[in-house]
Amino acid sequence: MRPKKFTGKIRTDPWEALARGPREVMASLWEEYLTEVSPAVKGSGRFRLLRRRIEDAAGYQDIFGQWNVLPPAGRAAAWRRLVETARRELEATREVCLRCGECCENSSPTLLVADLPLLQQEVLTWNEVYAMPVGDVAISPEGKPIFLQEERLKVREVPGTRQCWFYQAAQRRCRIYEQRPEHCRRQQCWGEPPPEPEPEEFLHRGHLFRQIPEVWDLITAHQERCDRVKVRQTLTRLAAGEEEAGGFLFEALHFDHHLREVLTREWGLTTAAVELLLGRSLTEFLPHLGFRAKLTPEGVFKLEPRRSCLTR
Ligand code: SF4
Ligand code: SF4
Repeated sequence: MRPKKFTGKIRTDPWEALARGPREVMASLWEEYLTEVSPAVKGSGRFRLLRRRIEDAAGYQDIFGQWNVLPPAGRAAAWRRLVETARRELEATREVCLRCGECCENSSPTLLVADLPLLQQEVLTWNEVYAMPVGDVAISPEGKPIFLQEERLKVREVPGTRQCWFYQAAQRRCRIYEQRPEHCRRQQCWGEPPPEPEPEEFLHRGHLFRQIPEVWDLITAHQERCDRVKVRQTLTRLAAGEEEAGGFLFEALHFDHHLREVLTREWGLTTAAVELLLGRSLTEFLPHLGFRAKLTPEGVFKLEPRRSCLTR
């Protein structure tokens, strides 16, 4: 993206405004100048960070504080310092991630095959990555739900947000920045969005567990008996009044629940690690489809509609 040029259209004569105006006029001209020359969108994290870098490097606070007592020549020199610093910083950071954290706050990375070493070296552990099997619901960058055609592995989000698990909001830093996943390295908020990875680039559970039969057999059995695509189709059939379709869903809910209990109780896995093996539970998946599954004290799942009045 080419840097925009300052046109001076903000005032009929900005130089006169600078020479004669008080510091509020200078501040307003500065704001407009930065907005024009910065390729980053005003209000974005990148813009805020760029601005801070430029103003710190140019000594903006001092300039602002002294502006009203500066003679015209001093004002011209101070303004030149601001503009030259802005040009230099913008050029130096043109195609560089400034680590503003905005993309980290809005999503966590989907893992690619290139990230396999991060799991092998335990930069990413079983507790920090979860599976999204075929048919699971992902959220698009625009915030819309999408049903996945292929499996994904994703870094966890901070519960209740879309923020990446590794992002420390208070310090605005990534805990694994030097070893961040490929998805993060491809982010380039300064230009066109990166192209979607090719399907064969995505990491999936097969890459991690196919060589471990006792784990892989469980994953494939669960995938078959709790297939989310089939769960969705079953709900459509139930909504159309096909009561007999409910058998699959009933079995799927109980198998999903039972297997998770075995993995946590007998294998000693955390709930998070189980979500890497099996994805999130069906009880968490169903609300995306407008239903809720509740386990009764007798240990039986009951399906309830969230919005419609469909009952079983
Ligand atoms: S790539 Fe992300 S973290 Fe880096 S500057 Fe852009 S929005 Fe900020
Ligand atoms: S891994 Fe790091 S760089 Fe990537 S989204 Fe998370 S916090 Fe941001």
